[in-house]
Amino acid sequence: MVPGERLGVIEEFMPGLGTYEEQGAVRSKTVGRALVDILNKKVSVYPVVHMASVPTKGSIVVGQVLNVQGKKATLRIFKIGKTLLNGFFTGILHVSDVSPSYVENMFDACKDGDILRAVVASTKNRTYQLSTADRDLGVVHAFCSSCGHTLDLKDRKMQCSNCGKIEKRKGAPDYGKGTM
Ligand SMILES: [Zn+2]
Repeated sequence: MVPGERLGVIEEFMPGLGTYEEQGAVRSKTVGRALVDILNKKVSVYPVVHMASVPTKGSIVVGQVLNVQGKKATLRIFKIGKTLLNGFFTGILHVSDVSPSYVENMFDACKDGDILRAVVASTKNRTYQLSTADRDLGVVHAFCSSCGHTLDLKDRKMQCSNCGKIEKRKGAPDYGKGTM
């Protein structure tokens, strides 16, 4: 339904939520889905929820690491697919979902401030459980834990361009290419 679209005449239906009456016709007030209450002869229009801006199971998301503990990292999700969000969602990455191979410590996979690309593995209990086990996923931008400069990927090692420190990450294949 679009605003102004005719749903029926007043003899057929009472105008319900999201509708209005005009010269005997019931019309939609909003963009949405029409629902007819047959029992009460009433028609209503419920607004369409923009699902694209909410992560769902299987969504590819990009987020910044807020906090790392031994077994999990908390991320602030700011992008779903190609859509940048106005707000953010909080996602949790468990150490068992980092890589197909065994990772003992979360600090070997990501650190505070890193930008990660992940998939939403579960939305149970309104918690966005993330996974970076797929080979296309992982850290896309990382910062040196000593001095805060960007880490460069050299010979499969993450090295600080400033202080030379070498760090471990679960990097995405396009790490450092400016893609998210
Ligand atoms: Zn450094």
